[in-house]
Amino acid sequence: MRAAEQQQYVMRAPCHCGCKYGRIEKKGPNNVVFCLKCKKYAGYNAPKSETGEPQRHVSSRENIKPKKRILILIRDGMCRLCHRSEPEVILHVGHLLSFEDGRKQGISEELLNSEHNLAAMCEECNLGLGKSSIPLWLAVGILKAHDNDDLGGKVLREQNGLLSYTSKT
Ligand SMILES: [Zn+2]
Ligand SMILES: [Zn+2]
Repeated sequence: MRAAEQQQYVMRAPCHCGCKYGRIEKKGPNNVVFCLKCKKYAGYNAPKSETGEPQRHVSSRENIKPKKRILILIRDGMCRLCHRSEPEVILHVGHLLSFEDGRKQGISEELLNSEHNLAAMCEECNLGLGKSSIPLWLAVGILKAHDNDDLGGKVLREQNGLLSYTSKT
């Protein structure tokens, strides 16, 4: 992984001191921006798209509707890989079978982005996976857990633009 700190970061707006460049300081998952020259806080945190850090599944992520993403987070409630939850970590929604692997195997984008292939993952675990699928033993554990939890037997349905978990029948 490239370290964002090593890169020259151009701030969204030049600092009052006239300096255009910023220094990124990692604070947990946040990229806090400081002026390179006067070291003042630039007033915002830079998203990964600005720092050039690797982003996972940028295009496919956009195909997961926000409502579905929220329901996955509610369903799982914690990172399915390391079992940590908020506020200790920030939860994202990631793919079990990675988008890249799935596409190579001819699996449709729709199925890859379905709730069956999505799980809550903390930023660290999600980025750690990169473009890889989760290990097989973990996938088996997650699927078995889904079978045992309260949502077992329930499916995510969309009706009139609203998503909800309803029983299969
Ligand atoms: Zn400055
Ligand atoms: Zn995790």
